[in-house]
Amino acid sequence: MNAILQQPLTGAVAEPSPAAVLDRALRDAPPAKVIEVALQTVGREHLALVSSFGTESAALLKVMADVDPAIPVVFLDTGWLFEETLAYRDTLIATLGLRDVRSIKPSEETLSQEDPDRELWFSNPDACCRIRKVEPLARALKPFSAWINGRKRFQGGARAEIPVLEDDGAKLKFNPFANVSREEIEAIYQLAKLPPHPLVASGYLSVGCMPCSSRTALDEDARAGRWRGRAKTECGIHTTKTS
Ligand code: SF4
Repeated sequence: MNAILQQPLTGAVAEPSPAAVLDRALRDAPPAKVIEVALQTVGREHLALVSSFGTESAALLKVMADVDPAIPVVFLDTGWLFEETLAYRDTLIATLGLRDVRSIKPSEETLSQEDPDRELWFSNPDACCRIRKVEPLARALKPFSAWINGRKRFQGGARAEIPVLEDDGAKLKFNPFANVSREEIEAIYQLAKLPPHPLVASGYLSVGCMPCSSRTALDEDARAGRWRGRAKTECGIHTTKTS
């Protein structure tokens, strides 16, 4: 159980967990308020934001930077990212004044043992995501007791019901954009004049790794281009316990 919001043992009647109580209190809170509460709850040294520097990432990074630009930002550089995403990361660091972006790479030893020919994305994408995303993220988050991410309910699928605050038993996970609409995100981009991800102009509504991202048609969901043609819809970083 997370040590920060530990639930006391109070007898047979099941009480809502402290995380559930805080989630309820934050249900209608604006994203900046959620980030402020995350900071107050665990302190900056125990809090990180995880960003893919994808097509909607600048909005959450902007809200975070307005609250505290020194919150550590963890970026998973999987070895399969588009050059445009790496350039976008650098653009947003400069534009938003982000002070502590940590680009995390997979273990070279694991790559040479499990994916020496760089074909695991095709033969076993779950294993590829494990060694290139899930395990590196778990290592990167070790010093932290809580993390912030940018999932939205409007993205559907496994994300349609996410609360504002989750406790996976290892870490707290704050979802400041859980309630936010696509229109509100677009408004943040417009108001702050945030630069778009360079690949949006060529038809990518959601950008991840090169082999597993494709353009989307006008009538498709934003994430339809991810792992196209496969049953896979999540890489595992949100479905795996973080320690
Ligand atoms: S998204 Fe694709 S390339 Fe990236 S880690 Fe997962 S399977 Fe591998």
